[in-house]
Amino acid sequence: MSRPAFFVGPWDLDRRLACVPDHPDQGTVVLVESISKSKALPFHRKKLVLIRSALSHFAAELEADGFTVEQVRARSFLDGIQAHVKRYGSTKVVALRPREWGLDSALSEAASTGALGVPLELHDDGGPGGHFLLTRDEFSDWAGDKAQLRMDVFYRWMRRRSGILMESNKPVGGKWSFDKANRKSVKGEQPPPLPHFDPDAITQRIMAEVAVWDGYWGSVEGFGWPVTRAQAVEALQGFIEERLCRFGDFQDAMVEGQSFLWHACLSPALNIGLLSPQDLLHAVIEAHESGRAPLNAVEGFVRQVLGWREFMRGMYWRRMPELRAANAWQADQPLPPMFWQPDQAQEACVRDALSSVRDHGYAHHIQRLMVLGNLGLLLGVRPIELSHWFWAAFVDAYEWVELPNVHGMALAADTTFTTKPYAASGAYINRMSNHCRGCRFSVRKRAGADACPFNALFWDFMVRHRERISKNPRMGVLYRSWDRWSEAEQADIRATASAHRARLTAHAIAVEVHDDDG
Ligand code: FAD
Repeated sequence: MSRPAFFVGPWDLDRRLACVPDHPDQGTVVLVESISKSKALPFHRKKLVLIRSALSHFAAELEADGFTVEQVRARSFLDGIQAHVKRYGSTKVVALRPREWGLDSALSEAASTGALGVPLELHDDGGPGGHFLLTRDEFSDWAGDKAQLRMDVFYRWMRRRSGILMESNKPVGGKWSFDKANRKSVKGEQPPPLPHFDPDAITQRIMAEVAVWDGYWGSVEGFGWPVTRAQAVEALQGFIEERLCRFGDFQDAMVEGQSFLWHACLSPALNIGLLSPQDLLHAVIEAHESGRAPLNAVEGFVRQVLGWREFMRGMYWRRMPELRAANAWQADQPLPPMFWQPDQAQEACVRDALSSVRDHGYAHHIQRLMVLGNLGLLLGVRPIELSHWFWAAFVDAYEWVELPNVHGMALAADTTFTTKPYAASGAYINRMSNHCRGCRFSVRKRAGADACPFNALFWDFMVRHRERISKNPRMGVLYRSWDRWSEAEQADIRATASAHRARLTAHAIAVEVHDDDG
């Protein structure tokens, strides 16, 4: 008997989504591994293991529950769906709108042209049956025709709309944000170890396959990310019990050799559907209400999930496809080769962040924003090159989330996201970390071969973009320091910046990229 086919993308691994049938009689399930997608970038091998293993586990779980499941390896997602439709004589295809521009465009076109030979029913990837809290239209309605959108305004709207951390229409604790309480540096406190999920037979088989694939980055060794819903729920519980209470305090801290600190490290599971944003929000609110987590931690976390994550995803759809080409500072430098070769980094903070990405496919938010993103901004790296590196190198990276974070937040290459760039000198890194103590560069110096590159590059950036930045009152005041220094000192700082730029960007590595393949 012919039945509908349900296409479950590798990021839709959640039984509650509209693209997964409730009951085996409703239809067949097709899970596709796209060969061209996997070759679109030199992805981290741990990312390939995570996605392939989670997909195989999801297929096995559905099969065990009596569903007819086909796991296909095909040239593209569309080819895989088409082959399944032919083999099973499907009456229609049910899918969630894909989260990335390229595939979303391909499926929308297939739906309107009837390219699959049967109707294609596309459900919104947000709202009921979707993965995000908002539908795409709900975000657009909120955004309206405003030229500049602010996350803090969006976040307050989301708090009111959801009732989360609200009491009689007022924010719990009397403030919308406890960000200022969340900037402590670590003074000897030890973060609990991150749960490690030992690879089972399925994951081990996939690790062995991926280990010998050419053209990818990083190693499969030490893989321990959650690959099933049960493991992801265990990881969430571990976060709530062991790390949430200090998450707020140390949210902005960096410690040499500590990749995870008190962060949730749940984005790899969340972004492929093993957890939903509601799962995270319910868990932290429950922890707060039962007195197990302080408000500064809980509010800080809610702001990330209810605020930043939904905002970034909304902005992605609002600004695509122009967002890819955004380059407000006319940045024209190549990506420093050390991004692919962390051992070559001489700056302690950069080496630590890059090594974490190479070893785990993960670095925490402040390393992404204030070390790697900041360096890209100050150096003037072409946004799309940094963006492709983030997309390839992180286990939690998909274009819908890395692109707005890299182009919008870290590089301020798109002017609709932020009021001021997150540009910072070495002083910020020194305040928030212990990296500078062991670094071969001196954070106290602005000029000379042993001066911290972030210092000279910061001032060089400020001077190159003076006309634009000085209009911003929060940053404009900084020019008072620059203007006090002698011409000779200013020239030394700029010469130091040029020398660091030449050193860091020499021998750039060309990477072949196919953004929309899949
Ligand atoms: P926590 O610090 O514990 O935060 C909890 C959750 O909040 C995260 O799991 C995530 O889902 C959400 N969140 C927090 N900040 C953001 C944000 N700015 N945008 C979206 N979600 C957010 N996040 C990704 O999921 N994938 C990416 O590819 C990605 N690339 C980034 C690139 C840059 C340059 C920057 C500055 C940020 C990027 N982020 C990305 C956002 C953020 O850094 C990560 O979500 C976070 O570090 C994931 O680790 P965690 O689960 O330990 O997060």
